[in-house]
Amino acid sequence: MERVLVSACLLGRRVRYDGGAKTSEDELLATWNSEGRLVPFCPEVAGGLPVPRPPAEIEGGAGGAAVLAGTARIVTPDGDDVTEAFLAGARRALDAARASGARVAILKEGSPSCGSLRVYDGTFTGRTTPGQGVTTALLEQNGVRVFDEDDIAGAARHLRDR
Ligand code: SF4
Repeated sequence: MERVLVSACLLGRRVRYDGGAKTSEDELLATWNSEGRLVPFCPEVAGGLPVPRPPAEIEGGAGGAAVLAGTARIVTPDGDDVTEAFLAGARRALDAARASGARVAILKEGSPSCGSLRVYDGTFTGRTTPGQGVTTALLEQNGVRVFDEDDIAGAARHLRDR
């Protein structure tokens, strides 16, 4: 059975910047979890960041691809540059996907690492903008299809149809 990479916070791991989780109640995800099919992973912790940690956003509302290309940074509200830790986490996420054979990931929407449809716009005012997080961008550039926690059915269809 094909493995699926999943944001660890969606599985109840308390790895978010604020020390909490974002546990998904999705039944299909629970089924896959009970089957041992899921590969829980937190790119930011894997990149060496602590729990809790300051929030971080991609400067200028740019997407993860710009961070990978070196044209945008990821910063905290105090202006600390945490780009390298985010890049390291993204590379480790890709390593984890490859090691497990996962070609699909379900990642937490809105995160500067895990977002797939939107990210915060870099102003720390709660506004979002269309774009991907840096882990999502790296995974998709390498053939791992990323879905958010509201489209687990889409991930299932993708696994079934291809
Ligand atoms: Fe969850 Fe991803 Fe943020 Fe880790 S980096 S806490 S897995 S959204």
